[in-house]
Amino acid sequence: MSAPAAPPGIERVLFSEEQIRERICEIGESIAERYRGRDLKLIGVLKGSIFFLTALAQRIDIPIKVDLLGISSFGARKGAPGVVRIAKDLDDTIEGEDVLLIEDIVDTGLTTRYLLQTLAGRGPNSLAICTLLDRTCRRIVQVPVEFRCFEIDERFVVGFGLDYRQLYRNLPYLAVMKPD
Ligand code: 5GP
Repeated sequence: MSAPAAPPGIERVLFSEEQIRERICEIGESIAERYRGRDLKLIGVLKGSIFFLTALAQRIDIPIKVDLLGISSFGARKGAPGVVRIAKDLDDTIEGEDVLLIEDIVDTGLTTRYLLQTLAGRGPNSLAICTLLDRTCRRIVQVPVEFRCFEIDERFVVGFGLDYRQLYRNLPYLAVMKPD
């Protein structure tokens, strides 16, 4: 069975399915080592991070709980930082728990900082960040990223959960889009 052809808006594959799978295995092992002996709660941010969260959770060999947070960003054009608010809150409390916030991408850091501040106020035992993609060259605010799969440059990326106008999330690889 041959792989489906890349959609027309895609310029090139940045990280293949295989590369993503390998990296997720490595990160999953590091997370398990770090938290062994404790229960860990993964908090995914809808919608971008759920593809990463699902793949990662299966590679972390310790007891895992999962909860989801939905956010709305305003002024969201291609990659632009917007004002963030929580559109769907967690189902459960995180008080006294070890929490790992799972992000699709940390870009300016504004979204992640907002989420960290919000979650820190709820009294977790520990709170750390794990991201599929990290674009440190565009950072506006510093956030402590503990686990990252890939560092990337300026180009807008889609696939493996990341969208452009809600499309491309289902690509099994990470790709760079053609310029407008
Ligand atoms: P922040 O700038 O606050 O760190 O990132 C906010 C959000 O912008 C990310 O969660 C993501 O939804 C979106 N974003 C930033 N860069 C990219 C990118 O290259 N591709 C896609 N699809 N979304 C991005």
